[in-house]
Amino acid sequence: MPDILELTKRIANETVAPLAAEIDRERRFPREGIEALGRAGLLGLLVPEQAGGLGGTVADLAAVTEVLAEACGSTAMCFLMHCCATAVVSAKATPEQQERYLRPIARGEKLGTLAFSETGTGAHFYSPEISAVHDNGEFVLNGRKSFVTNGDKADFLIVVTNASSPELGLDMLIVDAGSPGARFDGVWEGIGLSGNNSISLRLDNVRVPQTALVGAEGDGMGLIFQVVAPTFILGVSGVNAGLARGAYRQALGHAQARKYADGRSLAEIQAIQFYLSDMFGAVESASLFVRNAAAKAVRGDEDAVLHVMQSKVIASEQAIRVTNLAMQVCGGQGYTRSLPVERYLRDARAGAVMAPTTEVLKEWVGKSVAGVPLF
Ligand SMILES: Cc1cc2nc3c(=O)[nH]c(=O)nc-3n(C[C@H](O)[C@H](O)[C@H](O)COP(=O)(O)OP(=O)(O)OC[C@H]3O[C@@H](n4cnc5c(N)ncnc54)[C@H](O)[C@@H]3O)c2cc1C
Repeated sequence: MPDILELTKRIANETVAPLAAEIDRERRFPREGIEALGRAGLLGLLVPEQAGGLGGTVADLAAVTEVLAEACGSTAMCFLMHCCATAVVSAKATPEQQERYLRPIARGEKLGTLAFSETGTGAHFYSPEISAVHDNGEFVLNGRKSFVTNGDKADFLIVVTNASSPELGLDMLIVDAGSPGARFDGVWEGIGLSGNNSISLRLDNVRVPQTALVGAEGDGMGLIFQVVAPTFILGVSGVNAGLARGAYRQALGHAQARKYADGRSLAEIQAIQFYLSDMFGAVESASLFVRNAAAKAVRGDEDAVLHVMQSKVIASEQAIRVTNLAMQVCGGQGYTRSLPVERYLRDARAGAVMAPTTEVLKEWVGKSVAGVPLF
């Protein structure tokens, strides 16, 4: 297996970081970065080795997303949602799904994403309104999914639906982007992560073969909590730790370089030193918390779930705090596009509102530590 982190750092430095400002300004999909990750085999990070992938873990994912987000939040988010889709397929792949999806993913030829959210269900993505209706040996899907990152750039989507019979629970289906009746619309208008192309998906009588079911009917809820939740939460925690680190490094560099007429730098002012200390501590604690939670998840520690949930709370809150401090350090210049700090600040605001949101996670963590049932 190649040194995943070294490979990611090289791509981040050579391809991703140099395009970050342009992708943000033009609000365009980070095609170059995603293709470079594909050529390096990193789109197959969570594909098992026997299917040609790197066989990485959620700890590798969190480390990779942290590096990518420091370079470009949009690229990191697109990569993360692809990895979440990959993790779902990898968890229960049939031999046919392995050939049709996992091997091409490992070769960098297919990009995936999750189509979970619906306007009506909001942050409670585990309670979809769409149902998989049986018809002539196929599933038929009707409805609308919102916030589908990668959007029309994805080749396949993991769609969560109610199963054909309500008592079965939830299904997860692999839907090819070109399926008749599946159509993306709208443009991403969020304040940050401008290139993540998170748009709406319309499903009008989309017919999906039985072979596109992940696992068995009713396996959806288990896949959400055992596969999607740890993968997404640790990956997005890595993203937020990376955004915080990027903003801190930019603010530090600016504080050292910006000189007043008397020759003093910003970094020599005590108030700025206090901010730098705050940011340094926040970045390192968030990053360490995420890494520790990921290591626990990989080992299967008894308290892993608690640490995983809290990692997103900590990383997203610290990303908001650090990017705000970075703007304070950089003053008026930080408020303009002349420095990337304003981009980090806008990008960092997404983490806390992405499901499971900070409020929902705090409730779950609070209940867990207090021994109160989650549901
Ligand atoms: C940049 C970005 C990318 C995304 N990418 C994807 C993607 O690829 N795939 C996908 O499926 N989804 C994606 N999402 C959607 C995301 O995960 C959420 O589902 C979506 O943001 C929910 O928005 P909402 O306005 O409906 O929230 P609402 O459900 O209306 O929530 C609004 C507020 O109320 C709080 N709240 C709601 N219920 C409770 C409760 N019971 N207790 C306490 N507080 C509560 C929430 O925490 C939040 O602060 C993305 C979102 C963003 C911002």
